[in-house]
Amino acid sequence: MAEGAETTSDRMVVLALDIGGTQIRAAAIEPDGMRLGRCSAPTPVADGAEAIYRACAALLREAADGLPAAVRARVAAIGISSMGPVDPWRGLVVDPPNVEVFRDAPLADEMEARVGLPAYLERDTNVAALAEHWLGAARGCGDFLYLTVSTGLGGAIFHDGCLMLGPDGTAGELGHVCLVANGGPRCGCGGRGHLEGIAAGAGLAMQAQDEVARGASDFLRARADLAPLTGKDVAEGEAAGDEVCARLMQRARQAFAIACVGWVNAFNPERIVVGGTLAERQGERWLAPARAAVESSALRAPAARVKIVPSELGKDVGLVGAWPLVAQRHGDPAWRERRV
Ligand SMILES: [Zn+2]
Repeated sequence: MAEGAETTSDRMVVLALDIGGTQIRAAAIEPDGMRLGRCSAPTPVADGAEAIYRACAALLREAADGLPAAVRARVAAIGISSMGPVDPWRGLVVDPPNVEVFRDAPLADEMEARVGLPAYLERDTNVAALAEHWLGAARGCGDFLYLTVSTGLGGAIFHDGCLMLGPDGTAGELGHVCLVANGGPRCGCGGRGHLEGIAAGAGLAMQAQDEVARGASDFLRARADLAPLTGKDVAEGEAAGDEVCARLMQRARQAFAIACVGWVNAFNPERIVVGGTLAERQGERWLAPARAAVESSALRAPAARVKIVPSELGKDVGLVGAWPLVAQRHGDPAWRERRV
């Protein structure tokens, strides 16, 4: 496949891989963002790292094999969106929560060896930010923040037209700002009082579980008898008029709003783009308190500039972003210098 492949970015086709804790997706991405040969499979987490590599490579081959020959000849590289944290220079998935078999997994090198194309790896939220910058809600913005609110709360920082990575590649983990000193709900990262633990799905589920243990909510108890609680149960409880759920959701929206004030003051972004299933389902209900808090509490100049808007690309965001990821890194040795 690599033989004769063109690398000029105006005609380049990228094989995109989007690997999450429950699902792996793949597609070929055209230079206009068109997705071809989309395919997906469950992530075989219980079967170990080798099974995950095999599933990823099989999906990439499936996406490529379905292409017309003329398109296949333009496939230049693989762009990978992975649960974080990652080391993008070495192409490693470092230590994703909930998928321990993937600790220090050389995912980019494995895909290169198995599929025969150069591979570039980045954290899912950073790839999503590249996609929103290219074709979505942050078109034309040099400075913006991307947030995704679902089971976890991830982020990315764009500054001066570029992703901010930090020396370890972990910059932009905006969900782990601490909003409660000396306590607060537990966070997936092990910390306490972080935004993610207060406002994202897994944290809301844990808080809901505590309320059930205290006997505080009949609605949540009935849901907990059916299946393990999720953030969706808490949101639906609020809609059904349950007071405990309403209090938890209100606190989640307020925590997100307060964090936005801090981010606006710290980063002076033109936009804050908000995606993820929880925020998408809440819609304006989630965004309006954030806008109000920024207007009333952030510094005047950045508050007047920033627009807090929903993301535009939906669940294809991790596939679409593979194209600009590869376009920026392919052929630049800086992105390979730490590989062994
Ligand atoms: Zn945390």
